[in-house]
Amino acid sequence: MEQVYITTPLYYVNAEPHLGHTYTTVVADTLKRYFQSIDYEAFLLTGTDEHGDKIAQAAAANGSSPKEYADRISDLFRSTWDECGIAYDYFIRTTDTYHQEYVQKILQTIDDAGEIYFGEYGGFYCYGCERFYTEKELVDGKCPDHQTTPDYISEKNYFFRMSKYQERLIDEIQNKPNLIRPERYRTEVLAFLREPLEDLCISRPTSRLKWGIPLPFDANYVTYVWFDALLNYVSALNHRRGAALQDLWPKAQHLIAKDILKPHAIYWPTMLMAAGLPLYDHLNVHGYWVMDSGKMSKSLGNVIRPLDMKARFGMDAFRYFLLREMAFGQDAKFSEEALVTRINADLANNLGNLVSRVLAMQQKYFAGVVQSLDSEWAREDLELSAKFAQAETELNGFMAELQFHRALESVWSALDHANRYIVQTAPFTLIKDPTKQARVGAVLHHLLEAVRTLARLLAPFIPDTARELSALLALSDDALKTPWGQGFAAGHTVQAPRVLFPRIESDAKK
Ligand SMILES: [Zn+2]
Repeated sequence: MEQVYITTPLYYVNAEPHLGHTYTTVVADTLKRYFQSIDYEAFLLTGTDEHGDKIAQAAAANGSSPKEYADRISDLFRSTWDECGIAYDYFIRTTDTYHQEYVQKILQTIDDAGEIYFGEYGGFYCYGCERFYTEKELVDGKCPDHQTTPDYISEKNYFFRMSKYQERLIDEIQNKPNLIRPERYRTEVLAFLREPLEDLCISRPTSRLKWGIPLPFDANYVTYVWFDALLNYVSALNHRRGAALQDLWPKAQHLIAKDILKPHAIYWPTMLMAAGLPLYDHLNVHGYWVMDSGKMSKSLGNVIRPLDMKARFGMDAFRYFLLREMAFGQDAKFSEEALVTRINADLANNLGNLVSRVLAMQQKYFAGVVQSLDSEWAREDLELSAKFAQAETELNGFMAELQFHRALESVWSALDHANRYIVQTAPFTLIKDPTKQARVGAVLHHLLEAVRTLARLLAPFIPDTARELSALLALSDDALKTPWGQGFAAGHTVQAPRVLFPRIESDAKK
């Protein structure tokens, strides 16, 4: 059985789960379900990143210890993903003992290999970013992200000889064109690597920061937060899968937003090289959600919380919007108006109407009992089944490229075709002619095959709805996999329709 290992970033516990986190996590969940649907064994990891200045400061401002603070926010992430139905296999916290021990073990390995040295470092330190800036990188003497004046700090620290791995990293990226994808991010990383790569400062003195993992070779220092957080992808597998680590790790597919490209495309692979571990299989990078009202922020009051969206629109409708609206890799606009339009047009009208019309006719004309197909299929029957076969082929191609929106477009194109097939074959007219009953039965049978195919193809994207479709068809998961025309045994009875997606009236729009 082929394997795949899918990861979300470890979410930093300085903020509660919002739209950005939710998108990455929904994509990870969709990929996992998709790989399972094509018979892969899939393992999905998510979790929380809990060390560093920002957490220590937020905890202090909150009057709690860093650990208490991290416990609370970490629980919030976990319970949010549970309530959203995210099928993660393991949830890691960087404060977990096994993780801390693993980080220390890797640091020791890299130090033993002579890849870490002690040196003096001076730079402009932004506490918000938790990183040093060179004078050149500052804008009018201020942090470009925080618009604050950083402190100039000069101190002794430990450094990882990252510069040594520059050529090898360039070779790896050039030899495997989809190691980092989509292409624009690969290009960005290669452009960055045209400049000399510096060594990476990997420690913080405990005089300044205590909330971190102590260096195994110097108790006066803790590990730089990225050197700690990135290792989670391996430490979690080592902890959970033991011997399976060797097989599964090289199948890793990381999912990240573009703001953390550099740590994942540069620090992480060079760390892996120094630790003697293989690189990940793919680094998959997506863009930002842009709000109508500008950048999402607490102060603007436009933070999108996943559980609010679930309560108001349903999780599947929200998932569908996220996957359909954003071209993976590019930025996309988020607005409630666009969300409501998608729900009404694609889900309520197109999908919902098709399913309810087919089941209503099946109920009305044949009391729900599936009739036999014609011995010879009509041209439009063949076209309908061919259209769904084509959608599945296209979907597989697009999923391999993480083009979720195009995969869904292909399915919806088949859905449109099914709605046209109803108009073409007009079972509601034929039924009035007593000699055409068998044809009506056959037409509805083909339409039920269309619904059955939808239940299978849509399961990774909108899993609750797919389950509902199977329940309406009274079919088990295994029965979804048989070829077109073989899904329903003689005498099989399907359910009466239920509303899958209620239309959202315009007064619910803002
Ligand atoms: Zn900053």
